[in-house]
Formats: sequence, structure tokens, C-alpha cells
Amino acid sequence: MSDEIRLPRQDHVTTPGIQHHFCERSSCGRDAGWGFAKPKQAPHWFCFEHRADGQRFL
Ligand SMILES: [Zn+2]
Repeated sequence: MSDEIRLPRQDHVTTPGIQHHFCERSSCGRDAGWGFAKPKQAPHWFCFEHRADGQRFL
């Protein structure tokens, strides 16, 4: 008999097809929900707080 206590998993669940991005502002590293890109260029990603930084990539 096991008395192991099962806790909810806290790991990030990676959903196939949905890319996970991190803010490009150095020393930030939070989840980036805003992507900025010119046509045919790789997008730059920033979090809510630093999304203004992305404007210069447009
Ligand atoms: Zn940020």
C-alpha cells in the first residue's frame, strides 16, 4: 500500500504546434506573448511589459 501523496504537476505542458517564446529583453526572460516581424523575417518576441521594444522591428 502506498501512502504517496500525488501533487498536481507543475511542469509546463508543451502543446505540439504551439511555440513557446521568451521575452528578448536581456534579464527578463518571461513568457512573450507579443511577436513582431517584418514580412519574410524571423519574428522578435517580447512580454507584455517590454512589447514596446518590438515596435522597432516593425
Ligand atoms: Zn520582457
